[in-house]
Amino acid sequence: MTTRHATAADYLEYIRFVHEDPISAIQSEPNQAFQAIFDQKLANLAKEGAIFDLKGQTPHARIVSDLWEDLRSGLSDFFGDSLELAIGELDNMSVNAFCSRSEEGHFAIVINSGLMTLFNKLSKISIAVTDPESIEYCSRELDTQNAQAMLIGFQKEVCQHYRETRKPLGPQILLKGDADKRHGMQLHIWEMFVLCHEVGHVLCGHLTDKELMISDVITETPPNAADHSAREMEVEADCIGLLLLKEYVAKVMPNAFPLGDDRLLLSHLITLFNHLSELGIRESASHPPSLTRLCNMVEFVYGEALAQTLQDSYRDNSLIRKIFGTPLIPGRTLKGLFSYA
Ligand SMILES: [Zn+2]
Repeated sequence: MTTRHATAADYLEYIRFVHEDPISAIQSEPNQAFQAIFDQKLANLAKEGAIFDLKGQTPHARIVSDLWEDLRSGLSDFFGDSLELAIGELDNMSVNAFCSRSEEGHFAIVINSGLMTLFNKLSKISIAVTDPESIEYCSRELDTQNAQAMLIGFQKEVCQHYRETRKPLGPQILLKGDADKRHGMQLHIWEMFVLCHEVGHVLCGHLTDKELMISDVITETPPNAADHSAREMEVEADCIGLLLLKEYVAKVMPNAFPLGDDRLLLSHLITLFNHLSELGIRESASHPPSLTRLCNMVEFVYGEALAQTLQDSYRDNSLIRKIFGTPLIPGRTLKGLFSYA
């Protein structure tokens, strides 16, 4: 057999080359007020010595490759050195994220840069909804009496744009102080879940044959995969993805996500899946509707009773207090499922 792709990184480059399809050369007018505040934030970070080293990459490419480095090093006892996997960003309107396997057995995962911008926007708005005073800048006029309702409207608007155009359009917002930190944490969890879902496909052996592409994390599926087994694969990838994510946050951010209490993690996931629902995931043939996806994962990791309460909470909001009233202890862990050192 001739080797077409010597390493996972070679294969990733090939996948990106084949699938790159830049959304548009047309850029919106630069927003100078937004940019000035953003630049100031960066300058402050630099002063604190916390400047983000792009290492010659675009910001999205850097974030995406760091996700895998963070996951792999956080769970080094689980992954070891055996998995030949490379991850990169992709500029393509028709996919959100997917994983693929080369004939040689290298895995490549790509995440659409538009999806990352969309998540960034939605995460900021969702934090602002709960705390409108944390907004440092908004490109739209906000009526202070009515800010919350307006922000909820922004959320719907951004999702509708993305559903129709696959472009992350909508108001630009910057947050300040702790709210900005909460946003950074939430966004990292959302992006990491996307990666963990795709790694879940790899770990579950969904890409066993030669070069094969698998449905992406949000809505798109290859035409021949819209069947029952594709749905089961998505459920499996979600469940393993959640276990990976849980273990990752407990190891890497133990202060924010203490072992044996997954309430904060679950709250971020509920917010993510509410957005996915708004983004129209229910239209997908292989991905079960987003609420079902969320409940499937919760049942797998925390048991049936919690999954049922969560499902009921969409009819009776007061049940949310019941879910978050006591520490949330997982019934299933990565170690219980895979044996590793
Ligand atoms: Zn998937």
